[in-house]
Amino acid sequence: MIAIKDNIAQVKLQISSACQNAHRKPNEVTLLAVSKTKPINMLEQAYDAGQRAFGESYVQEAVEKIIALQSKADISWHFIGPIQANKTNLIAQHFSWVHSVDRAKIAKRLNEHRSGQDTPLNICLQVNISGEESKSGVLLDELPALLAVIETCDNLCLRGLMAIPEKNASQASFKQMQSLFIALQKNYPTIDTLSMGMSADMQLAINAGSTIVRIGSAIFGSRN
Ligand SMILES: *Cc1c(COP(=O)(O)O)cnc(C)c1O
Repeated sequence: MIAIKDNIAQVKLQISSACQNAHRKPNEVTLLAVSKTKPINMLEQAYDAGQRAFGESYVQEAVEKIIALQSKADISWHFIGPIQANKTNLIAQHFSWVHSVDRAKIAKRLNEHRSGQDTPLNICLQVNISGEESKSGVLLDELPALLAVIETCDNLCLRGLMAIPEKNASQASFKQMQSLFIALQKNYPTIDTLSMGMSADMQLAINAGSTIVRIGSAIFGSRN
């Protein structure tokens, strides 16, 4: 059996040491446990080890888990996967965060479907920092237009930026995201989140100011 509790402790140590190297405080970085494809009992083990923020990528699978675990009301659910327009209602109803908003149509639909809820939906804009390599994420020159749309969405709270730098990306890509993040913070006071870093590149991300690392395999083991 995979010792999820030990893995979480190990990842937290890695976060602490990365923070120390970057002259940052460990509590500036939130650990998001990415539990996509993993069974509910593994999420429960993580919860029992104190984990409260979970990331999911597949809407149907995620909603089943959210409903199964709804008695654990202090879990915050983060949607981090590609968003199909016909799934925005389920996402807006069941999640408190969405990291992967990258086009106006999706933002508008999430905003519509969030109306009537007590709290706005926290969103990050996914930026395609590696250029043409990836199809997900808004390109830098399209970002201002997307921001203008977000400003009209009362049921969305713009919390920041998300990126999935390509495999073996250099520190420079991460630092580019950090610069963008700092620049946007000047105009958007609700921005406090830079969602960046996965099991393999956590150190580079933390060194570039990441405030949420999204960790899957280092906690739950590799995915099939
Ligand atoms: C799966 C996934 C992760 C976690 O990746 P690991 O390499 O398993 O840590 C992080 N972010 C996103 C967007 C993902 O889809």
